[in-house]
Amino acid sequence: MVYIMVDPGHGGYDPGASGYGIEEKNVTLKLSKMINEELGHYEGVKVSLTRWDDRYLSLDQRCEIANASGANLFISLHTNSFSNKSAEGFESYVVYGARKNMTNAARKQDIIHGSVMDFLDDAGIRDRGKKEAGFYVLRYTHMSAILFENLFITNPEENALLKDIEFLRRLAQAYSRGIAKAYNLQHKGTTVPENEPVPDYWHVYKNGEMVGFFDYPMNALQSGYYAAKAGLTSNETEVTITYERVRKT
Ligand SMILES: [Zn+2]
Repeated sequence: MVYIMVDPGHGGYDPGASGYGIEEKNVTLKLSKMINEELGHYEGVKVSLTRWDDRYLSLDQRCEIANASGANLFISLHTNSFSNKSAEGFESYVVYGARKNMTNAARKQDIIHGSVMDFLDDAGIRDRGKKEAGFYVLRYTHMSAILFENLFITNPEENALLKDIEFLRRLAQAYSRGIAKAYNLQHKGTTVPENEPVPDYWHVYKNGEMVGFFDYPMNALQSGYYAAKAGLTSNETEVTITYERVRKT
């Protein structure tokens, strides 16, 4: 079981950066909750947030929550800001030295940053790169830790995206795909249930004629897969594909 601690930046009387009517603390909380929901579609992963509502947490408290949790990965979510409203893009940080030594955090950063940029590229967002910094939450968490700056809240075009709930949902899905890739998580419904009895196999029949057998447990979701392996297309309408469970003795 992989345990991911998501840290929504800022909160309570610390709004973070703001622009055009929105505040960083609210964007990071929405995005974090969506990542939690999206990771719910995967097996073998547990997710928690350092905060679930609009409250202040010190940087030290965030590290304490993460360190006490036993999480494998800490991801801190922020939005960027700058005095010049044309500043734009997406960037991520691991602690100083991590990229030079290609630590576990840097390897996870490569995968998750890549997955998020695959999505952001299509939205026309610039890649500012994978960087290093001495941010408190990167230095004082005991697990692999990555901090993400999700666009500039001070850039009018990027600010409009951060207000768009559909954009945030798709961004959360890109994070989840990246985390799933980094930890080899299987999407629910694609794995064989652990409690399925193994000592059976299945005959596959096409129009009543046996065309193959499989030495695997099977459930309804996978019948298409086994049919394909037997050289049958699941969309054939003229054929009837049936399965027979055979007891191994
Ligand atoms: Zn921030």
